[in-house]
Amino acid sequence: MKIIRRIALVAHDNRKKDLVEWVEWNWSALLDHKLICTGTTGTLVEETLKNKLDKSLKRSIEIRKLKSGPLGGDQQLGSLIADGEVDVIIFFWDPMEPQPHDVDVKALLRIAVLYNVPTACNRSTADFVISSPLFKTEYTPTLTDYSQYIHRSVRL
Ligand code: PGA
Repeated sequence: MKIIRRIALVAHDNRKKDLVEWVEWNWSALLDHKLICTGTTGTLVEETLKNKLDKSLKRSIEIRKLKSGPLGGDQQLGSLIADGEVDVIIFFWDPMEPQPHDVDVKALLRIAVLYNVPTACNRSTADFVISSPLFKTEYTPTLTDYSQYIHRSVRL
């Protein structure tokens, strides 16, 4: 049985070239999966994949495009993660420039760790993730049991 992963792709402006190159390199592996992107990243990924497809197969690719990151896209993605709708995150964030939505970036990385979603923040990690045998098999990340926290008594 073919495993279809829901892969989130996000890159800050200074890292978009890196992500586009990574997508060009891995385009055929990505075609079998569902892609979710923040707005501008999504447009670039779509163009990149369309270029590849034009040159070969007659196939289309559907990309779910969220809002642009600084306009709420990171938070939309965080919400999908909390709902268990993202299997892999490729998030090339910029280590050299502060972002207007730094708090959203931190929140996104936090929620990705909380829900134990494999998250690649650079190309080498993304290469390891996509070439891992686990990428092609059933894999359910273990989740920490927060029931004690949920049912804690709160003094009013
Ligand atoms: P963008 O957002 O893809 O719309 O540029 C990326 C981000 O900053 O999170």
